[in-house]
Amino acid sequence: VPESVAVLSEIFRNEPPSVLTQFPTVWTRASGSQIFDPYGNIWLDWTSGVIAANLGHGSEAVGAAIIEVASRPLLHSYVYPTLERAAYLNMVKEVLGYEKALLLTTGSEAVEAAIKIALRNGASRGKEKIVSFDYAFHGRTMGAQSAGGIAAQQTWLPQNSRTFTRIPFPARDSVADGFDPVEPLSKLEEEGGGVAAVLIEPYQGSSLKVADKAAVANIEKWCRAHNALLICDEVQAGFGRTGRMFGYEYLNIEPDLVCCGKGISNGFPMAMVLCSNEVVRNFNLGELSSTHSGNPLGLAAATAVLNAFTNSNILANVTARSAQLLEGLHAISAEFHPHIEDVRGVGLAAGLVFKDPRICALVAKRSWQSGLLVFAPIGREKTILKFTPPLSISAEQIADGLLALHGAVSTVVE
Ligand code: PMP
Repeated sequence: VPESVAVLSEIFRNEPPSVLTQFPTVWTRASGSQIFDPYGNIWLDWTSGVIAANLGHGSEAVGAAIIEVASRPLLHSYVYPTLERAAYLNMVKEVLGYEKALLLTTGSEAVEAAIKIALRNGASRGKEKIVSFDYAFHGRTMGAQSAGGIAAQQTWLPQNSRTFTRIPFPARDSVADGFDPVEPLSKLEEEGGGVAAVLIEPYQGSSLKVADKAAVANIEKWCRAHNALLICDEVQAGFGRTGRMFGYEYLNIEPDLVCCGKGISNGFPMAMVLCSNEVVRNFNLGELSSTHSGNPLGLAAATAVLNAFTNSNILANVTARSAQLLEGLHAISAEFHPHIEDVRGVGLAAGLVFKDPRICALVAKRSWQSGLLVFAPIGREKTILKFTPPLSISAEQIADGLLALHGAVSTVVE
């Protein structure tokens, strides 16, 4: 669309060049799983707007809640109590079952806060390391990015700290293949400095590798035995994406800290860390908060989201649509096996791994041209096409997307 390219060029002129990486669809309106641009084009959205609009775009319940709050002049600051904040915190405790919820604004901020909590708790036990995993993504603020495992993003970060260490990700089936996930942890513990916490994504957003249940159970056991906290970064996996409320339920573990963002509020600025009383006991007034934490608009959206999860069958839809999506991806993979080497994913976070990054890029572009919005290729070699449709997507829309994808692959490779 030439008009979209002109808009993109204008944005590029005025923003640092690092900001926009996706296809130049100009978003003017979105509804359910569809995106509309101002020039009459429609896309089926298999990104959920960077995995945030889990309930679908333009959710009526979220929209109504936001309009109601926006129609009242409300002070937007954490330091002032609101009825909405009190109600949401009660609801979180009742529905999600944690003693404490720290309200924040972005996923990175939630990870940042979890790291601070882990380091403060570790300090009293002489432990100072945050152990995360190769190719992890935890956000773009300094602490969150330092914990990330994508080397290209770390080159400019201070390299002399021993706080952040990465070990191999315990991907699905890795234990069956002989991988021992706790061996590197024990080594780090013995080297001195001690492990304050292990930070893990239930599935890696940047590689689509899903964590191995047995491996993660061993890591959890190791953490308990060595007084280390287990932090789950559920910014992407949480709020239904895996077919459970949280990805850690799928893994059958009980983390000490849970970082939430993205789907928590269906696309409005809001994030949260869930934890026990015990781990935040050692914090003084003002050490964990910020101006927009628990802002009324984010809270209104988050309350509508939590209500939707408790009052509807979203998770059942994820399970059914996931089976349909994965079956379709396996069929495409089998048909084009000289070009596709793997199908990855869990719930409604799935993808195809291509052998050649050029083919992957062309398939992504072709899909977009034929009306299926997907992410630009991800992964170390940029060979992964990732699909994260809204959790409310219909069977027909999954079938339509698979058809478009099949057409894109066959046009590119034949
Ligand atoms: N953790 C994970 C697993 C994520 O996927 C993201 C965002 N892609 C973040 C943290 C950071 O969230 P935000 O962009 O809201 O800061």
